Amino acid sequence: MIVGDLKPLEEIISAIKAYKKVLVLGCGSCVTVCLSGGEREAKQLSHELAQVRHYQNAPPKFEVGSILRQCERDLVIEYQRIPDGTDAVLSLACGAGVQILADVLEPLPVIPALNTTFLGASDKPGTWTEKCKGCGDCILIHTGGICPVARCAKSLFNGPCGGSRGGYCEVGQGNPCAWTQIVARLKKLGRLNCYEEIQTAKNWKPGGAAGLRRRVRTGLGDGSTKNQTSSH
Ligand code: SF4
Ligand code: SF4
Repeated sequence: MIVGDLKPLEEIISAIKAYKKVLVLGCGSCVTVCLSGGEREAKQLSHELAQVRHYQNAPPKFEVGSILRQCERDLVIEYQRIPDGTDAVLSLACGAGVQILADVLEPLPVIPALNTTFLGASDKPGTWTEKCKGCGDCILIHTGGICPVARCAKSLFNGPCGGSRGGYCEVGQGNPCAWTQIVARLKKLGRLNCYEEIQTAKNWKPGGAAGLRRRVRTGLGDGSTKNQTSSH
């Protein structure tokens, strides 16, 4: 899922204080699951933002709503509940959702309330960890299902580096060394031969180095469906 963090309150207040009526809009998918941008968080945020102590002048009025996925244009178009008098929308979606909302609702200003941080998953309740950087050429088959691009501090393809100590990464923060984990997993899988294969230099073009990526699905309905992601 896409993981995001609420921006500092002062930053949000500074962005909305000039408006008179703000719709605080949650998103019902990834950011709901990671407890940062769903309807419940939208209600809590709107309650906090309505406190007069945050403003020198009168605070804006707030209404709260939620869309199942702000990153889906059709769902945003179907959402008909922009209250009369709304002069800005505060979106609790990821950056993709904010951009679709801004396109569909133009010229209404759409303000991001979250910092979109990473593609991750929950390892234990209340903790989400980065798992993937969307590199466009997945090598998990060679690494026992553990991503060195996202989980190794140096994104090494042939690790570990000389700084791995006792199973931990030299970069610190208590992070395990991804390559120690990869070797342990490959041992369990009986696939240590994968570790002995030297991975060649990665082509980062599919990872976004060649510009905007776009996925096109053609042939829908005529039996010749093809998926292709490319950079343009
Ligand atoms: S190898 Fe690339 S696509 Fe696969 S999990 Fe890692 S970053 Fe994501
Ligand atoms: S210690 Fe391990 S995780 Fe950290 S940079 Fe080196 S190989 Fe990567």
